[in-house]
Amino acid sequence: MNEITDQHVHEIVIVGSGVAGLSAAVYAARSDLEPLVLEGPEPGGQLTLTTDVENFLGFPEGIGGMELIQRGKEQAERFGAEFVHDTVEDATLDDRPFELVLSNGDLLRTRALIVATGASARWVGAEGEDELMGYGASTCATCDGAFHRGDDVLVIGGGDSAMEEALFLTKFADSVTMVHRRDELRASEVMADRARDHDAIAFRWNTELVEIHGSREEGVTGATLVSHPDGHPKEKLEAGTKVEREEVDVSGVFYAVGHVPNTDFLEDTPIDLDDSGHLKTREGMTTETTVEGVFAAGDVMDPDYRQAVTSAGTGSMAALDAEEWFERQAVREAPAAAEATADD
Ligand code: NDP
Repeated sequence: MNEITDQHVHEIVIVGSGVAGLSAAVYAARSDLEPLVLEGPEPGGQLTLTTDVENFLGFPEGIGGMELIQRGKEQAERFGAEFVHDTVEDATLDDRPFELVLSNGDLLRTRALIVATGASARWVGAEGEDELMGYGASTCATCDGAFHRGDDVLVIGGGDSAMEEALFLTKFADSVTMVHRRDELRASEVMADRARDHDAIAFRWNTELVEIHGSREEGVTGATLVSHPDGHPKEKLEAGTKVEREEVDVSGVFYAVGHVPNTDFLEDTPIDLDDSGHLKTREGMTTETTVEGVFAAGDVMDPDYRQAVTSAGTGSMAALDAEEWFERQAVREAPAAAEATADD
């Protein structure tokens, strides 16, 4: 049983320090809610792993993901937000104040909570990926691309991330082969065109990765791909349909197949998640979750838009919703307090 190490009950705690958490922190701090931001295992979130952000309003030349995050943090700190580099392991949300257990064993109490924990890279489920992730297999080209100078590499996925990863990898790799399970890209036209027009990038359509070869000592040495003219070859393979199987010599495999929301610490709480694991919010345009006093922002609640700018938007909404909720609470508590005084 954890001791309550911090007797103070915080007004509001924001879990996550990506663009959603930072935007929530700016708004909450400007509303004098004195937010405490728990930065999480990857401070700054996914934007710290991207290169240039070209579609965040107000930066016509683009801005580096890391710089955008650093500026956001400075902005939140300027208004009084406090940052702690720790991660929430467990939460009790049955009663208020809510209780949060941190990875260092501390227990925090807070009247309101904004969950902005984002999402983590999805894995494909190929044989060998557990052993080789970090040893030639990667979910982050900007982190690991430089290890692949002169190599032939694969990028798995057909969305904007896959295009971005492939384009980045051409700085180092001799050849980049995109492996996509259908014959149509999910990526936006502008990103898809850039990848299609690049001489060092080739496409393998209707193809999926089933195995990565190699060892931790040698790194990645190859991969097994399956393909079927109608797409989704792994499904076909599982259903017993014949698929083409091919072994390719590559030294790197990069996953860009989307993300899964980070909600592990909410597992034993009454908060509702949707079928895809995202935090459910109430009907209408709100960030209120199914637990009163808990608000959600960014990729952890958004299965559809997942843009830096929309995450910033839902972050600000969460802080505004929390502020309004505090005001409603005060209205509710005020008559009760007056009654108690009258009874004295
Ligand atoms: P997406 O969900 O958009 O794309 C994931 C891709 O991976 C899809 O092509 C999907 O295939 C494929 N995929 C998913 N699961 C598997 C699997 N198990 N095996 C093989 N393939 C799989 O994710 P992204 O990360 O690319 O993008 C997320 C959001 O971020 C999007 O809204 C995107 O626009 C945005 N973004 C914007 C950027 C920019 O504008 N510069 C850069 C990066 C991201 P299928 O298509 O068949 O479903």
